[in-house]
Amino acid sequence: MNGYTHIVVGGLSGAIPVAISIAEKKFGFSISAEHVYYPLIGMLPAIAGSLGPDIDLPNSKGGKAVRLFLKSSITFFGVVSLGLAVSLCFIDKLIRPVNVLFPVLAVFVLLCLVRLLLPIAKHRRGTHSGLALLIIMLPVLYIIGYMPDTALTDVLFSIWVGFCIGWVSHLFADTFNRKGVPWFYPLDNRHYHIAHIVTGSKRERTFRIFCIVVFGAVYLAILLFA
Ligand SMILES: [Zn+2]
Repeated sequence: MNGYTHIVVGGLSGAIPVAISIAEKKFGFSISAEHVYYPLIGMLPAIAGSLGPDIDLPNSKGGKAVRLFLKSSITFFGVVSLGLAVSLCFIDKLIRPVNVLFPVLAVFVLLCLVRLLLPIAKHRRGTHSGLALLIIMLPVLYIIGYMPDTALTDVLFSIWVGFCIGWVSHLFADTFNRKGVPWFYPLDNRHYHIAHIVTGSKRERTFRIFCIVVFGAVYLAILLFA
């Protein structure tokens, strides 16, 4: 599918939690014992995540956007890590940032690794696999399992959950594409698909409209019955 379709499906997917929060009349809701997900914070990362798996295409809209997103995120997490490390040396006793430093540093290292491995990625292979999805979800599991509940961790949690929602939406959309998705790569090289839509075709445009209608019905059901 093209970048435009992925942005539409990613945005629509990220808006499902927004509909839930509107139905519950709250800005955020708990999706683990301690951590709160703020759907509005997760919206932009969901759109970025929806372009994520096409990072292996350097000249695609997604490839360019994700390279830019990676560059900005690496800079952001690098600066935050440095700031936390410096504050650890000087004001440790006041705010004890060590609990936050390691996860932020882990995300920084993960992003650097992804950037370094980019040039060897083959299209519709590793980045479109279920294995890559699991790796992308690791920081979420780490935050749920090991990070204390603070405003900063909830913001990080919301950014990363939003990014994962977008990433899943990309694989979902590509599963309707003729080329399919290698869900079980590297165990199984087969590309699975449930439709034969050709990228850039009229059927892809119909698919976008179909998604808008289906997601619209889902929002309505959430608002009426949740
Ligand atoms: Zn793709």
